[in-house]
Amino acid sequence: MLTNRINTLSESITIAITTLAQELKAEGKDILSFSAGEPDFGTPQVIKDAAIKAINEDFTKYTAVDGIPELKKAVADKLKRDNGLIYAPNQIIVNNGAKHSLFNLFSATIDKGDEVIIPSPYWVTYPELVKYCGGTVVEIETHDYSAFKITPEQLKDAITPKTKMLVLTTPSNPTGSIYSKEELVAIAKVLEGTDIIVASDEMYEKLIYDGTFTSAAAVSDDMFKRTVTINGLSKSVAMTGWRFGYMAAYDSELIKATKKLQSQSTSNINSITQRAAIPGLDGSADADIEMMRVQFKVRRDEAVELFNAIDGLSVLKPDGAFYLFVNIKEISNDSLKFAKDLLAQKEVAVVPGIGFGSEGYFRFSFATDIKSIRTGIKRIEEFVKELKA
Ligand code: PMP
Ligand code: GLU
Repeated sequence: MLTNRINTLSESITIAITTLAQELKAEGKDILSFSAGEPDFGTPQVIKDAAIKAINEDFTKYTAVDGIPELKKAVADKLKRDNGLIYAPNQIIVNNGAKHSLFNLFSATIDKGDEVIIPSPYWVTYPELVKYCGGTVVEIETHDYSAFKITPEQLKDAITPKTKMLVLTTPSNPTGSIYSKEELVAIAKVLEGTDIIVASDEMYEKLIYDGTFTSAAAVSDDMFKRTVTINGLSKSVAMTGWRFGYMAAYDSELIKATKKLQSQSTSNINSITQRAAIPGLDGSADADIEMMRVQFKVRRDEAVELFNAIDGLSVLKPDGAFYLFVNIKEISNDSLKFAKDLLAQKEVAVVPGIGFGSEGYFRFSFATDIKSIRTGIKRIEEFVKELKA
């Protein structure tokens, strides 16, 4: 009954583990979950107020498929102010979360046989969507010793005449690595003279603890023309459930194509979310964003220290996002079994590295309160000790 296309698609492992942890918790188990990629903070009041106002004004009807003009303007203004990128309204589309932006982008650009270069560890969704669209995933493996970043040489070696796209995630989920401006310039040089599209996923842009963030599209005119910038508000202003994301591209024909797809699939995103997203973009929620960033940084620093004090585990201090990608290679090369046993024996949920294409790691989200982080790491320490004994 089902298509081959759907049969080859795997469920999102991050969502699957988070849901399992929630179910076990509901059964009364003392589960500590570090699997979810979402802030533990509430959505800022200014955003909630805008939503309430929209409801009270009956702003509850269909809207333009690609987003209401004032929202698209807020996106354009944000991209100009924060990223130095100038886009016109027809170069921007608003989607049901950045995941939807990626789905639309891949659907509009990837044909059977097209190769898409994805650095690993990668966010779980990219390879699945590429395969779903008939594309071939070409992984570039990265390591702790290169801070989980690809080198220009690795990129050069991965490019073939079939390469259609390179996916970049900066800051990265699951490693938190950020590409510096110089590193992006070096990548841009390799791409010069090709038709390769860069999909730059900048979801964690506002969560920077060390270093500075540069948009891939901002490093040169050539990069601006080939890059599709993907972003949203799920992480920066804790709006995961509201479903708002967007993409911006120099090529307005590409945006038009995704709009066509959206018009025949989901139509506009939730009208109330559209009004609520505006204060998330225009600076009105900046104090909330900074409050959360500072909290995340405190948690990152303590969690990194605690993990690195555990015999058999090691972790790089991530520059951004809210994940630690913990190396367990000394004790296990089966991250799925590690994560399953940890959940069963110590009631701690983490995501196995294999879900991100890297065996010998687990992802630990520190978007959780500090007390749970301390208790959770203690339980992981006991688990590791017992494994080693
Ligand atoms: N990109 C990255 C790197 C992510 O971690 C996520 C996870 N939520 C998304 C995109 C999608 O976010 P959303 O669909 O909630 O906007
Ligand atoms: N992106 C988040 C994560 O990596 C949310 C889950 C998902 O969308 O897969 O955990």
